[in-house]
Amino acid sequence: MARILITSGPTRQYLDPVRYLSNASSGRMGAALATAALELGHEVVVISGPVQIDYPPRAHVVPVVSTDDMLEASQEWFKKCDGAIGAAAPCDYMPRFVESQKIAKTGAPLTLELIETPDVVATLGQTKLPGQWVVGFALETEDRRFRATVKLEKKHCDLIVSNGPSAIDSLDNHVELLDAAGDVVASVHGSKQQVADVLLDHIQQRLIGRVSGTKAPG
Ligand code: C5P
Repeated sequence: MARILITSGPTRQYLDPVRYLSNASSGRMGAALATAALELGHEVVVISGPVQIDYPPRAHVVPVVSTDDMLEASQEWFKKCDGAIGAAAPCDYMPRFVESQKIAKTGAPLTLELIETPDVVATLGQTKLPGQWVVGFALETEDRRFRATVKLEKKHCDLIVSNGPSAIDSLDNHVELLDAAGDVVASVHGSKQQVADVLLDHIQQRLIGRVSGTKAPG
């Protein structure tokens, strides 16, 4: 039995008390992965941005809002986990300045200066201990395999799931699972639950099985 951290859903970066940057991630892929992991007998911690869907009741859900919140909660929980799956779509940019009052309309164009937020999966990948593993997702519109492999290396992932933009806020998904050598080890098309079940089988065999018998750190 392993304890698996799953990041899921979008994050929000507020510009002022009422407006924010975000994306249409539904959290469905994270919920499907949580269900698949629980069914294999694992413990699941879901670090989730604001979503409308429900996670399986047996998952421990940690709600977060911003990418910084997601990073902080993930780093804290990862210490007690065997591995992590980054299914979230964290907002990659945040305003350099956040206004404490609602920005008033003036009739003139408004320019926002954005800076990058931290990368949650890359941070977990960089800091993972021997025996811990990290699986990332890569959403690409072109050169999908190549770019996914580059991301896998950059983010120190053990496996990466490549999918396209049609995955966002949809019921189905079509993914390829790539290993650290860049080889496609699975290609799955189906409901997000069917996809998650196959992905968890591979994670079980390739990553959890690999370290079975070793204890989670912490
Ligand atoms: O670079 P890109 O956003 O396509 O990378 C996708 C992978 O990185 C996913 O696993 C996603 O959860 C993760 N990610 C992250 N933190 C970010 C951006 C992406 O954990 N700020």
